[in-house]
Amino acid sequence: MALLQIAEPGQSEAPHQRRLAVGIDLGTTNSLVAAVRSGMADVLADENGHRSVPSVVRYTPGCSPVVGHAAATGSGDSRSTIRSAKRLMGKGATDLVDSWLCRHYRFDLDSGSVPAFLTADGPRTAIEVSAAILGRLKHTAEAALGGELVGAVVTVPAYFDDAQRQATKDAASLAGLQVLRLMNEPTAAAVAYGLDNEEEGIVAIYDLGGGTFDISLLKLQRGVFEVLATAGNTELGGDDIDNAIVQWLMDKACIERLADENAEAAAKVYARSLKEALSTSASVDVDWRDDAGHHVLCQLSIEEFNDISRPLVMQTLKPCRQVLRDAGIDREDVTAVVMVGGSTRVPLVRDSVAAFFERDVLTSIDPDEVVAIGAAIQANILAGNKAGSDLLLLDVTPLSLGLEIMGGLVEKIIPRNTTIPIARGQEFTTYKDAQTAMALHVVQGERELVEDCRSLARFELAGIPARVAGAARIQVLFQVDADGLLTVSALERDSGVVASVNVKPSYGLSDGEIENMLRDSMKHAGEDMQKRVLREQKVEAARVLEALAAALQADGDEHLDAEERARIDDLVRQLSDVLQHSTDREVIRQAVHALERGSGDFVERRMNASVRKMMSGQGIDAMDEAVGKARHEACTSDP
Ligand code: ADP
Ligand code: MG
Repeated sequence: MALLQIAEPGQSEAPHQRRLAVGIDLGTTNSLVAAVRSGMADVLADENGHRSVPSVVRYTPGCSPVVGHAAATGSGDSRSTIRSAKRLMGKGATDLVDSWLCRHYRFDLDSGSVPAFLTADGPRTAIEVSAAILGRLKHTAEAALGGELVGAVVTVPAYFDDAQRQATKDAASLAGLQVLRLMNEPTAAAVAYGLDNEEEGIVAIYDLGGGTFDISLLKLQRGVFEVLATAGNTELGGDDIDNAIVQWLMDKACIERLADENAEAAAKVYARSLKEALSTSASVDVDWRDDAGHHVLCQLSIEEFNDISRPLVMQTLKPCRQVLRDAGIDREDVTAVVMVGGSTRVPLVRDSVAAFFERDVLTSIDPDEVVAIGAAIQANILAGNKAGSDLLLLDVTPLSLGLEIMGGLVEKIIPRNTTIPIARGQEFTTYKDAQTAMALHVVQGERELVEDCRSLARFELAGIPARVAGAARIQVLFQVDADGLLTVSALERDSGVVASVNVKPSYGLSDGEIENMLRDSMKHAGEDMQKRVLREQKVEAARVLEALAAALQADGDEHLDAEERARIDDLVRQLSDVLQHSTDREVIRQAVHALERGSGDFVERRMNASVRKMMSGQGIDAMDEAVGKARHEACTSDP
């Protein structure tokens, strides 16, 4: 695993020429902006003294959108009051089915691939909603710092894929913010802790926010950080605990459903206040009534609250096991566990995580602010303000990236959990004689067969010079930049023809899908391997048949008598038949072997004839080369 220390170009400027750069935690529930001032990273408060902005935007016809506290607390049309827009970033219409968002908002699904919230002021995409929040944070920062920003480091959940990262960048440009870099949220938390406290050892970053959960394993050593693994769930957070409390209230009131979206929103705000009160007291008075006249008057004890939230808290432990497995780390080897995100204030969360890792959890930096603070530290470095320091944390790819090869198999180019940015190349060649184009299919996933992985992009490399199969040298390069965006290029070395594709899938994978893909890959590992070797054997058999057919056509009559020819034809028929009907790798292998043995004399004769032809009139020096060439041609049969 690569170390995470890289040097950025650009020298630090004189102290009086500080470039104003901020770190932004663009959260599902709350967003914050922080900056380094006088060597200390701190969160910037707005003109009302608020250190965080609820990620809520309300649209009213003909007015500019209301962002933050006023939108979150004021009464108004709940369908036009957009919360949790981050859940929709980079997603498509099909991702909406059955989602929380779908139950709370109306969407415009017709206008292209990006779904938009239908608000009283017209359709608004998640990118526009996020841009409104970022615009507010930019304003807060410029007012607090007294100048224009050169840029920002914006954080995203570790599990955000290309489309989601791209959508975040688009939102920033819409808000007039230059993105210095996107950074994974847990990684930012590690910067905040690592650089300030000089922790050493293996650290688990447990981040439970309003709508997302991330767990990362980092190795800290004398100020150098290495990301070992990340996992998580983008559909799990404090919102779900709120929903569970609303359900509990409805059960108490013996009601099946609430009157409308406004009633649901109000119940959720109330549930959230109960939850937050229970993070510091043993029980809370419940006095809840809805507009329809239902009334719940009772006490909610911490024990009962624990029972309500336990299933959700337990769900976060699965990814915890996953990262330990991925990194090959035992629980006992984890030396510190950092709590990040507002929901880690819930005592059951802290206790469960402490019990899982069998150690106390760290909360010394405010769990709501730690991500923004880490981002601010990195922004300060990227802006060139920190002389002599070029420490940067890098992130990892959540799933393997690869190419489809013959037989519908996947060749993994960048394995999962590789530290980014990364560039990896591999050389491929043509399968058929005179092949002048090559189709490249980029896939993501852990399985061996293309059909079990996710298709990311297809493109074609045309203009390859026509040569014998296997002669062209095609260099395929996979590059994932620091923001996690993938570019794949293909270059034919001799002719210099090149083609490339930027991978921005039209919508993202949910965490559940990623989890399923990982689970499937483990479950099917043995069976996949068998399928793979079978397909490889089939590809090999097809190649032998094709090469022999071409050779027979070229000079079969010259080298074979009728009886020999009939014997070979018979073996060809047998192999073709086996190839078509058998799923037994060994049977195919034996048929290939039989054909190779049966046609051995013919191949030998062709080779000798070829050598004789080439050697006539040439010196002994050319001998080796000629034999090599003849051997190749005898096998691959240049027509
Ligand atoms: P996000 O990263 O998704 O924006 P945050 O880290 O800001 O989320 O966490 C927001 C979540 O934290 C909300 O679900 C909120 O209810 C919860 N939260 C905040 N304070 C407390 C508290 N004292 N006790 C329990 N939950 C809290
Ligand atoms: Mg967060």
